[in-house]
Amino acid sequence: MVGMERGRIRLGTVAGIPVGAHWSVLAIFGLITIILGASILPGAVPGRSPIAYWFVAGAGSVIFLGSLLVHELAHALVALKYGVGVRRITLWLLGGVAELTENPRTPKSDFRIAVVGPLASLAIAVVALIAAYVAHPWIDTLLVAMLIWISLVNLIIAVFNMLPGAPLDGGRVLRAFLWKRTGDRERASEMAATAGRFLGFIFIGLGIMRMGFGQFGGLWLLLIGGFMLMAAHAESEATKLRRRLAGVRVSDVMSRRFDVAPAWWPVEQVLANTTTGHRVVPVVSATGTPVGVVNIADLARLDPHVRMRATIADVSRPLPADAIVGVADELVDVLNRIEDVDAIFVVDRGAVVGVLTSEQLFGRPGL
Ligand SMILES: [Zn+2]
Repeated sequence: MVGMERGRIRLGTVAGIPVGAHWSVLAIFGLITIILGASILPGAVPGRSPIAYWFVAGAGSVIFLGSLLVHELAHALVALKYGVGVRRITLWLLGGVAELTENPRTPKSDFRIAVVGPLASLAIAVVALIAAYVAHPWIDTLLVAMLIWISLVNLIIAVFNMLPGAPLDGGRVLRAFLWKRTGDRERASEMAATAGRFLGFIFIGLGIMRMGFGQFGGLWLLLIGGFMLMAAHAESEATKLRRRLAGVRVSDVMSRRFDVAPAWWPVEQVLANTTTGHRVVPVVSATGTPVGVVNIADLARLDPHVRMRATIADVSRPLPADAIVGVADELVDVLNRIEDVDAIFVVDRGAVVGVLTSEQLFGRPGL
């Protein structure tokens, strides 16, 4: 999700994947707690104290968010199993999202990464129902009602996510199926995105109808429909880009004009010798091997004394592994990495031979 970086609270790391929440998740937490505490629980088990209702509603809301996280983790872990990187998992206003760093390479892995999320939600629904059934003689009826609600809502999540349109899991399943049948991943993506647009319009239509009848829940459908339209659009734009870039190598588009900062040079000497205006410059060893990066603006801000005396090695930052690509790599495979790094350095037989920056590729500075 673009823009999810800001306002993101880091919760921890699971299997090396950063797990976080966007502040907008508080809206779900509040809404679910209110719906449970003010309506569903008092309706199912009347005559309890308000404190009991709110306490169990709060706990139900936390378990609900936990079950969203399990759904996303299921996607992420299967992705890792198929060698597809996972950038991060984030909970936000409309649920959870597991961001993959690249596309699955086969229809089979595409299918399995997608289908395991709804399966995880289905499994939670079954476990919560069994827990409610087994524990009901011993635990408070309010807790039993909450467990049954958890079961129901996870069943709804499983079914909703299997609707066949991108960006829903069902859309990915549809894409994998079409990809397998036609052998054309891009065409399959385009069709799944079209189905997603169609679903988005249906949700918006249903949302407007419900709002017309004075039902607040219609707003939720409008939000989901709007999000699906946007995501389906982004999906088809990405597909068009992939199609246009098919067969284009990194070496075809990289800039061969780039500055380097030899690690042993004084900072001042590098500043005096930069000519390209690139913001980020690779630090190289005597053999031309990239060993770090420096930001030219940061160097210029250093005290003049430091600039004269310190060497580049003293002020260089480590080079992220994602910032290096081979000269023969396909451009589409490295494009989305530019979101995570300031510049990508193109290496041939160990030495830097070119550079890719977001300014150069998209005509705008990176994030
Ligand atoms: Zn999912």
